[in-house]
Amino acid sequence: MSITVVGSIAYDAVKTPFGERERMLGGAAVHFALAASFFEQVRVVGPVGEDFGEPELALLRDRGIDVSDVERIPGGKTFFWRGEYGWDLNSRETLDTQLGVFEGFQPKLSDSSRSSDVLFLANIQPDLQREVRAQLPNARFVALDSMNLWIDIARDSLVEAIESVDCVILNDAELRQLTGKPNLLSAAREVLSWTPSASSSGGARGVGEASGPKVIVAKQGEYGAALVTRERFFALPAFPLESVIDPTGAGDTFAGGFVGFLAAHLGEGDQELSDELLRAAMAHGTALASFNVEEFGTERVVRLTDAEIAARVQELREITSFSGAPLQLRD
Ligand code: AMP
Repeated sequence: MSITVVGSIAYDAVKTPFGERERMLGGAAVHFALAASFFEQVRVVGPVGEDFGEPELALLRDRGIDVSDVERIPGGKTFFWRGEYGWDLNSRETLDTQLGVFEGFQPKLSDSSRSSDVLFLANIQPDLQREVRAQLPNARFVALDSMNLWIDIARDSLVEAIESVDCVILNDAELRQLTGKPNLLSAAREVLSWTPSASSSGGARGVGEASGPKVIVAKQGEYGAALVTRERFFALPAFPLESVIDPTGAGDTFAGGFVGFLAAHLGEGDQELSDELLRAAMAHGTALASFNVEEFGTERVVRLTDAEIAARVQELREITSFSGAPLQLRD
């Protein structure tokens, strides 16, 4: 099932202890689309400025990504983000965010973007996420990501956006901040209890009967990611790497692998959103994210091959499985 994604399309300036880039292709929608393109047809929705280069668009096209709903705004400036990491690559400082063309952007989706069965609302203003959600009322599976900035300055709109989706993918700390619950499980359960308010724009429901989010993914940086549903819990560590160069976009790349894998399988006959499928999607998201952090920005993922992904998923399976006959424990 094809995927439509809305979110930032950006130029990033990034400094880590291992080097820096002054102006590289980035943005939540870009990292997501590149990862998801290994599994399904992806359509990107969002504006760029006059300064956005043709080579950057070509890089997306080369992965088979449909960029016909990437709108170039005359006289506009592409979204810009500057961030810096210290030795703890799990935390970063945002030094500058310039919304540029996203300010006042009114998304007008083409018929093909509206026809996707899967929608990913990547990180951007929640009002914009809701406008796009409303244009795909019949999507079968809708997932959303966000960040602390929007929890701080647009919480009500974000909560309404969350109530209209099936799956929420957030950083662990953001989930706690959003709910005011200091514990991951109770924070996830809180979000699982939210249901669409009468005023919510995205009224139609996706996979399954219940309304409101039914899958929560908490991203935990170098510690991996946890999955919480109404019935079950599952977690995977990050893939162990000796060299991490730049974690920018790891969360979106994880989301691209996770949602891309689900989209590919939900399209097969009447596959349900089962526990088994969600767990395998977690493994694919984890594998994709591990490649992203090996180099700056999109540099590694654009060279990635199917065989490399399959090999890493297999390795992840090996390092996370264990067996052991039940043992009579001592009193
Ligand atoms: P991640 O490391 O997965 O959290 O995502 C990093 C990407 O998010 C970068 O490529 C940035 O361009 C983008 N980004 C940073 N701040 C924002 C923001 N306020 N809204 C949307 N995208 C952002």
